[in-house]
Amino acid sequence: MSDTKAPKISIVVFIDALGWDVLKGRRFMDARLPFRRKLQSVFGFSSACIPSILTGLRPREHRHWSFFYYSPATSPFKPLRLLGLLPRSLVDRGRVRNLISKVVKRFYNYTGYFQLYNIPFKYIDKFDYCEKNDLFVPGGMNRGQNIFDHLKRAGVPYHVSNWRDPEARNLEALKADLITGKITFALLYMAAMDALLHQVGKESTQVDQKLAWYEAQLEEVLRIAAEHYDQVRLFVCSDHGMATVHTQVDLMSKVEALGLAFGRDYTATYDSTMGRFWFHNPATRERISTLLQQVPGGRTLPQQELEQLGCDFEGNQFGELIFLMDAGVLIVPSHMGVKPITGMHGYHPDHPDSDASLLSNVEPPHDPKAITDIFHLMRAESGA
Ligand SMILES: [Zn+2]
Repeated sequence: MSDTKAPKISIVVFIDALGWDVLKGRRFMDARLPFRRKLQSVFGFSSACIPSILTGLRPREHRHWSFFYYSPATSPFKPLRLLGLLPRSLVDRGRVRNLISKVVKRFYNYTGYFQLYNIPFKYIDKFDYCEKNDLFVPGGMNRGQNIFDHLKRAGVPYHVSNWRDPEARNLEALKADLITGKITFALLYMAAMDALLHQVGKESTQVDQKLAWYEAQLEEVLRIAAEHYDQVRLFVCSDHGMATVHTQVDLMSKVEALGLAFGRDYTATYDSTMGRFWFHNPATRERISTLLQQVPGGRTLPQQELEQLGCDFEGNQFGELIFLMDAGVLIVPSHMGVKPITGMHGYHPDHPDSDASLLSNVEPPHDPKAITDIFHLMRAESGA
């Protein structure tokens, strides 16, 4: 049978939120994947981290960060403003929001991940959205080239998961391609760990159970791959970790108590870990900046720090002022959700809970230190 085997396959398994600290004190494929590295994450949510993994670029360069940004001139959401006239008790139900998100996604032909979250409909015409296109195909980035552009140009026969599908289906699709022996590179996308960690937190035994499940699944993938390839190189990586929430702050109410007019004096969007502000007159900037200095559990990021993080955007696209909470402090309510949850990420990348992981059965190429290095690893492994 060995003479019919293909020479080599490299499999990169992406497990969302499999943080370095999530793995601490746990056994996960220790013997199978002895090369283990902590990777520095990128400042932002998965909407920023995944584009950085796929391109090797930082948010300033690929222009993917938080989903919504102030841009009334280009906002595609003007028709949705009418929904703001309906009672919030109706249109803000999770199921109703999901349904409206689906309709909008189909109407505009968005192929990316689209979710309206909890942005108020009465303000939605002020915002545009940064992930309209599928990131996991050639040409998927707002700016720059992703690994799929390189794979396509180099003519590499590869497998990539459909990120819209559940994990079990993605595993089946990968195994089906491995059995053909025709691919030389694979990227398996596993998203469920992130949702579990948000829900139960990293200390939960449910996380141990989930890790045991991943281990069993990946052993099976390795077994099948070894039947069809002489050499199987396996890399397990993630985009960020998960902090346990210990404090909630109602940032929105504090800002609204200033009595300024949203949309006329200022525009704000509240992500789970940061408030992002645009000012429409200098007096408002002064008043909001002063207020934020008195909010405990967070700080305004100086421009120089945003530059170091690669999150200084042309035209301050994603906010003229970024107020970031300390790790474990959650903005509730926010425009991403109204309910408190156990775990959150999207804090400063210097915090240990933000660190991502890279585990492998071979020494990884190019001495990776940050999640952007996964891109270079994928190019080296695929030859693209
Ligand atoms: Zn998440």
